[in-house]
Amino acid sequence: MSEKWSHNKEGKIQQMEKTKTEWENLGFTYRKTDKRYIANFKDGKWNEGILTEDHTIVLNECAGVLQYAQTCFEGMKAYTTQDGKIVIFRPELNAQRLEDSAKRIHMAPFPKGRFVDAVIQTVKANVAYVPPYGSGGSLYIRPYLFGTNPVIGVKPAEEFQFRIFTTPVGPYFKGGAKALTLCVSDFDRAAPNGTGNAKLGLNYAMSLHGLVTANENGFDENMYLDSATRTKVEETGGANFIFVTKDNKLVTPKSETILPSITRRSLMLIAKEYLGLEVEEREVYFEEVKDFAECGLCGTAAVISPVGKINDHGNEICFPNSRTGMGPITKKLYDTLTGIQLGRIKAPEGWIKVIE
Ligand SMILES: *Cc1c(COP(=O)(O)O)cnc(C)c1O
Repeated sequence: MSEKWSHNKEGKIQQMEKTKTEWENLGFTYRKTDKRYIANFKDGKWNEGILTEDHTIVLNECAGVLQYAQTCFEGMKAYTTQDGKIVIFRPELNAQRLEDSAKRIHMAPFPKGRFVDAVIQTVKANVAYVPPYGSGGSLYIRPYLFGTNPVIGVKPAEEFQFRIFTTPVGPYFKGGAKALTLCVSDFDRAAPNGTGNAKLGLNYAMSLHGLVTANENGFDENMYLDSATRTKVEETGGANFIFVTKDNKLVTPKSETILPSITRRSLMLIAKEYLGLEVEEREVYFEEVKDFAECGLCGTAAVISPVGKINDHGNEICFPNSRTGMGPITKKLYDTLTGIQLGRIKAPEGWIKVIE
């Protein structure tokens, strides 16, 4: 496939010529696109930043990111709307979260005021790779920030690099959203007062063993409970939970140690303002999970993945309305959010940024 992914553009911005099937079959894998954004922080300030074709990074062997995992990231998408515009979704929230994550591990935050512009520049430079409307695909955008100077005694780096690359991805659910089966994990994801609410590579590194273990035991993902008491629902390795009660309330866990998902926060507003549902963000005890009618996982990658079952050390909890796929309320939430992102439904003020 690589041939077809290289230089295609004839001056003008134009989407790449691909068949519907080719766009649909992209999956969620890295594919090198034309340009990426780079800015460097040195001597206490960020430089101007450039777009480059070089997809490789040359670092000192002792760089802070390599020795002590000083790195954080964001995940966003660019979509082609029904009327052919290219848009991104609530990028200011990603700018803020990247700043929060960076500060949590003592990195110089990339200036919030420049973040959105840098994302737009990068999407524009790779506009040929934005899948067309109707394909179900999108251009995944990965901003990230890491310590670059040599650090051997334990301390924060003083030089940093901020980068953004993009990669086209296909529809998350090929042939419909199949309900996932989760297991209650014996591992912990985040400590009280730890880093669970920051989007850090280190949270993912330590979640990999739990994920592989869950997969080996036949489960799609882990449900992590709060580490202190093991009684309250937190999240999975990379997505927040939403639950729907039997009387159609949207319930989502509130915790200081889960990552504040932009998808989840958007769904809460949609539930209230677009669907007229009652919304509760509160502590959710594992004990009450068995009483919910629907369960889903939310994040940028999949929007919402339905959860059919949760296995707690052999005891199975089944969600009657999302046993095999999205439940009716989850489906409405999904359709409304994706409708907003794809320009089929009027967006709340400020949610959609058109790339011009
Ligand atoms: C990124 C992430 C999410 C989802 O956040 P979105 O902003 O909705 O993409 C949820 N949990 C974790 C741990 C994450 O890293």
